[in-house]
Amino acid sequence: MQEIGHWIDGKLVAGTSGRTSDVFNPATGEVQGRLALATPAELDAAIRSAAEAQLKWGATNPQRRARVMMKFADLINRDMDKLAELVSREHGKTLPDARGDVQRGLEVVEVCMGAPAMLKGEYTDSAGPGIDLYSMRQPLGVVAGITPFNFPAMIPLWKMAPAISAGNAMILKPSERCPSTSLYLAQLIQEAGLPDGVLQVVNGDKEIVDALLDHETIQAIGFVGSTPIAQYIYGRAATNGKRAQCFGGAKNHMIIMPDADLDKAADALIGAGFGAAGERCMAISVAVPVGEATADALIERLVPRIEKLKVGPYTAGEDVDFGPVITSASAERIRGLISSGVDQGAKLVVDGRDFRLQGYEKGFFVGPTLFDNVTREMEIYKQEIFGPVLSQVRAATYEDALNLVIDNEYGNGTAIFTADGDTARDFVSRVNVGMVGVNFPIPVPLSYYSFGGWKKSAFGDLNQYGPDAFRFYTKTKTVTARWFSGIKEGASLNFKAMD
Ligand code: NAD
Repeated sequence: MQEIGHWIDGKLVAGTSGRTSDVFNPATGEVQGRLALATPAELDAAIRSAAEAQLKWGATNPQRRARVMMKFADLINRDMDKLAELVSREHGKTLPDARGDVQRGLEVVEVCMGAPAMLKGEYTDSAGPGIDLYSMRQPLGVVAGITPFNFPAMIPLWKMAPAISAGNAMILKPSERCPSTSLYLAQLIQEAGLPDGVLQVVNGDKEIVDALLDHETIQAIGFVGSTPIAQYIYGRAATNGKRAQCFGGAKNHMIIMPDADLDKAADALIGAGFGAAGERCMAISVAVPVGEATADALIERLVPRIEKLKVGPYTAGEDVDFGPVITSASAERIRGLISSGVDQGAKLVVDGRDFRLQGYEKGFFVGPTLFDNVTREMEIYKQEIFGPVLSQVRAATYEDALNLVIDNEYGNGTAIFTADGDTARDFVSRVNVGMVGVNFPIPVPLSYYSFGGWKKSAFGDLNQYGPDAFRFYTKTKTVTARWFSGIKEGASLNFKAMD
């Protein structure tokens, strides 16, 4: 049994609270680690030394801070396989997918090598007689990152790299389900030259999140997780006068037009619907074919592809397509939702409820599941299932399909598959969703753009990583400076004795 503590002031430390949380191996169902849950007093001590370390770090020139990011990126590449293994061990996703998780975080670190350019201010020469006007971006101080279980490397890196390269110190509170990757990343960034105390990884649950939200030294909260918690955190952080950006859940639709390449659309739905067992905030969980013929043809293509999917533990080799879900409660919840779909009249085309894997009977596996004839009123449509369940909602026209997406309370990602540029342009222009794909199922922006949903998928202003992150993690100071006439008017060129 592995005991997992915190990373404080450049060292792994054991917790003192006596309160712990079990860390599972989702493939076997066994408890493999015991995570210490911090007390508010431990958190307070971590914040105090972070505040001290931040003073020096914030005053370090931006290029030197960026060099830490350069070295950090090297070390992440060096230890890519080790990091991927840590991700898979606690999350259960396949190793190739875990490498993608690390890679998409690494790309944010790469962009942060250019932080000095992002942090440049503005300057107006001679805004008035003898008056110059300029603005500068200064770090906020100590900020917090609170992250979900489903991307144990990527999302902690989305939080720490921009915040730290902008000169802040960060308290990172990773998911209690998958804490080890964050602790390892903290060791790597220290090896890259980050001074002790600038990044503190404090593990815990609601108690410690609430203590972070109420702590007066914490200037900003960057949260990623489910919508109810995102909304709660946004409200409490804002009430306490903190800057907050809180990214929540999703229900991502993909519209398939009659003129789309249906084989490509089916491949895209398989990858985006079932990859990582559907535990991605950008997973496609709703397919919306336009017209009965498109819908029938799509089902015909999806079923054989689903039957070929290989579900298993990440240790079973690289041809496994997806692994278990995160907890037994999550597997139960997903099975319950599938049953509710049947009860409410959806057509269950492929049923993953009884999936069992020999040797892994206690693992948290759910097989791939496909529903047809799903309607707006059903629970499987209304809820974010966050499992390997794809629902097909049939639409009679393009306008019906578009309105379905527009009326949905979430607005993280969406996609359209079509051969017609005019339809694609209309969709891109009218849809009220933050990230849109055209013949591209998971449109996660690259790291030099910024990531964020609309509607109930995000609370607060500014997106995460990319240029927006540097706005979020800095505050602007604007200076109006006037210099009165000085020595140049009274200067004498004569060689004379001192007065
Ligand atoms: P979660 O909301 O349960 O947990 C997220 C974080 O909040 C964790 O660190 C957890 O410890 C903390 N937390 C949980 N309950 C809390 C409470 N009552 N009070 C205070 N803190 C609490 O989310 P999860 O299950 O870890 O992650 C899955 C969710 O995250 C899905 O809804 C998914 O769509 C979403 N997600 C969103 C994005 C995005 O960028 N929009 C990205 C990834 C995941």
